[in-house]
Amino acid sequence: MKKNQPLEKVFSVIENQRGEMIDFQSRLTAIQALAPENGGKGELARARFIQDWLKAKHFPEVEYINAPDPRAEEGIRPNLVLHIEGSSHSKTVWVMAHLDTVPPGDLKLWESDPYKVVVKDGKIIGRGVEDNQQGILCPLFALRALHECKMKPSTDVGIILVADEETGSGFGIDHVLSVRPDLFRNDDLVIVPDAGNPDGSMIEVAEKSILWCRFTVKGKQVHASTPHQGINAHRAAARLVVLLDETLHQTFSARDEMFDPPESTFEPTKHDANVQNVNTIPGEEVFYLDCRILPRYELGEVERVISEAVLKIESELKVKVELSKPNVSPAAPPTSPDSQVVKVLARAIKDVKGLDAKVVGIGGGTVAALFRRKGIPAAVWSTLDDMAHAPNEYCLIENLVSDAKVFASVFAGE
Ligand SMILES: [Zn+2]
Repeated sequence: MKKNQPLEKVFSVIENQRGEMIDFQSRLTAIQALAPENGGKGELARARFIQDWLKAKHFPEVEYINAPDPRAEEGIRPNLVLHIEGSSHSKTVWVMAHLDTVPPGDLKLWESDPYKVVVKDGKIIGRGVEDNQQGILCPLFALRALHECKMKPSTDVGIILVADEETGSGFGIDHVLSVRPDLFRNDDLVIVPDAGNPDGSMIEVAEKSILWCRFTVKGKQVHASTPHQGINAHRAAARLVVLLDETLHQTFSARDEMFDPPESTFEPTKHDANVQNVNTIPGEEVFYLDCRILPRYELGEVERVISEAVLKIESELKVKVELSKPNVSPAAPPTSPDSQVVKVLARAIKDVKGLDAKVVGIGGGTVAALFRRKGIPAAVWSTLDDMAHAPNEYCLIENLVSDAKVFASVFAGE
């Protein structure tokens, strides 16, 4: 491959931005950005910080496409769009990342303050540094380096930073797509840097369907010494979890090697607190199930198996089970491995990292599906160790540098 002289210069500018990348990450992490459902705020403060940062670096003025939400700061869930003009306006290369983060989880599992970045062994550690601040940082630093080298992107570039990704996207990209359907065209390219693998060779084009279930098991609360007078909701919930676990895995056991992991997953996750003391039999138990289902299965089939398990436990243990589904997202049609967004990304990955990209499907939950449903090809790509939502979340500084280079290469075109 012949060396691309102007891009080599852009790459060396990016190499020299490690200190600024760490600073940018530290400042973002210090601004907690929890959705109201996750007990917090800060998306707006974060959006304004980025707006100011862009202004200081002489980027064009950003556009806000806010979703009203009375629970949020100033009643606003911010969605930020940065438009950069390219040599051609025939299409736009979009990069979308999300402003919100999840809460730190159990603080005892953190070795440092989640909101104060620690830099150690080439890593930046703190809540949000990977999910999804790396995705915000890399395309912005790529554009900045291109600008510094007086290079225009080959086509228009749009960076869209959305709210509400972690809690359903209703106030985020969903809102943007519904109030501004004109923003995206069918031959635009959409890259979502919100999942990936450690060497950055994985381009995700397909997702599993998602189903979240909330089970409220109702029994009868009594003193623990007289269980015969009550109905133990905890026991019934435990039986239900085991039954669901066995039945769902047996019924939906197909494997598809394009996906990682190759099978459908059914995981009991959140569990609400019940009684405060050991010697009370709980009369109510609430737990959740997170299902990621291969697209070959209809969600309705899975829902039917779940309802049957519920009926069985209700009749065997004399409890009532209320079932609600906070998230039902059937898989979107996959992006073709031959689409332009995949080709452009694969070429940039080869140029920067020397790797042949492989095209895969994952457990889903990224916003790429919303674009795919509108017929806009979207690829999810990033270089990361998959620390999203984990304690001691980190990103590797080298990955910030390499991913910024990949974006620079994508934006610059051939
Ligand atoms: Zn994310």
